[in-house]
Amino acid sequence: MEYQTIFEPFRIHSVEPLRLTTEDERREALVTAHFNLFSLRSRDVMIDLLTDSGTGAMSRDQWAAIQHGDESYAGSPSWELFRDAVQELFPFAHVIPTHQGRAAEKILFSLIGGPGTFIPNNTHFDTTRANIEFSGAVATDLVIDEGRDPQSRHPFKGNLDPAKLVSYIEEHGRENIPVIMLTVTNNSGGGQPVSLQNMRAIREISLRYDIPLFLDACRFAENAWFIREREAGNEDREVADIVREMASLADGMTMSAKKDPLGNIGGWLAMNDDALAAKARTMLVLTEGFPTYGGLAGRDLEALAVGLHEAVSHDYLRYRIRSTAYLADSLHASGIPVVQPPGGHAVYIDARAMLPHIPPLQYPGQSLAIAL
Ligand SMILES: *Cc1c(COP(=O)(O)O)cnc(C)c1O
Repeated sequence: MEYQTIFEPFRIHSVEPLRLTTEDERREALVTAHFNLFSLRSRDVMIDLLTDSGTGAMSRDQWAAIQHGDESYAGSPSWELFRDAVQELFPFAHVIPTHQGRAAEKILFSLIGGPGTFIPNNTHFDTTRANIEFSGAVATDLVIDEGRDPQSRHPFKGNLDPAKLVSYIEEHGRENIPVIMLTVTNNSGGGQPVSLQNMRAIREISLRYDIPLFLDACRFAENAWFIREREAGNEDREVADIVREMASLADGMTMSAKKDPLGNIGGWLAMNDDALAAKARTMLVLTEGFPTYGGLAGRDLEALAVGLHEAVSHDYLRYRIRSTAYLADSLHASGIPVVQPPGGHAVYIDARAMLPHIPPLQYPGQSLAIAL
């Protein structure tokens, strides 16, 4: 029998009413928004495929944790819970909370970027590239060639090309490269995963040239799940254990907690370097807040600590990845172009296929992106 979808490992606990609209109303809303999805009012949208960022439903235990939020300016127990939950998966010496991932990027690249510096990545996320370029540095994407081929079935299309990285370092000089970034999963490249083998190869290069390696770890749990599913020798491992190995290969990370930590807001910057952390905390006080809350309320820190535990649940990840693949398979079968082949993870649908009258895409992000 053809395998269809998977049993949800949860019951729906609370419902949010949705305004039902007619096709005519939706067409009119699109015209008023000049076909720009970012200009729509959310109340006019019935199925919102704009982004995966901070839009998920929180769990019962996350809502319960919100009641425990301690809003003290300094030394809140909510901070300690959050820090411990981050360090359980990412045992970096310093954890610096921020209100979003881009705030962590802003602090990091203000400190280590600047004119004359070059920062490689598999693919820079748009806010990462913007923060690097705003500092005056050059941001470069060095994903493997298969990562740019929509038809390729390579299991780890997010891998950073080790040979391209070595020539990049030789070309620009190691002293001009303050950090190597690695985005897991490779969000701007279709949410494709990075293998452990590739991380080890990049780690070896980072050590050989003495350049720190930082993860942009927004989809760390999905990435670890794909390693478990697709990389030989990992099939019996706990996802949390794979995540810890990923962290052990890096010197630090930037993070959006609006992604795998299952929050509606939040982020952090983490690292082992004491001197860099001291500078980052000073900058944090100027831009985000005191180091025990960053840009967040105590209640947000509590919800994120619970989200981090729940994000690595196997039942949950299996369900999430399988239901995304199910959507891609169904779209593909209905003749709607899906950039990512069926069975994959993030689903990029060309909006023009569904709305033939809309003008040509101005930039790739204008296609509808679904990353559950
Ligand atoms: C979302 C995201 C960011 C930015 O995080 P925000 O919380 O939206 O500021 C950075 N990198 C990647 C890979 C992301 O997915």
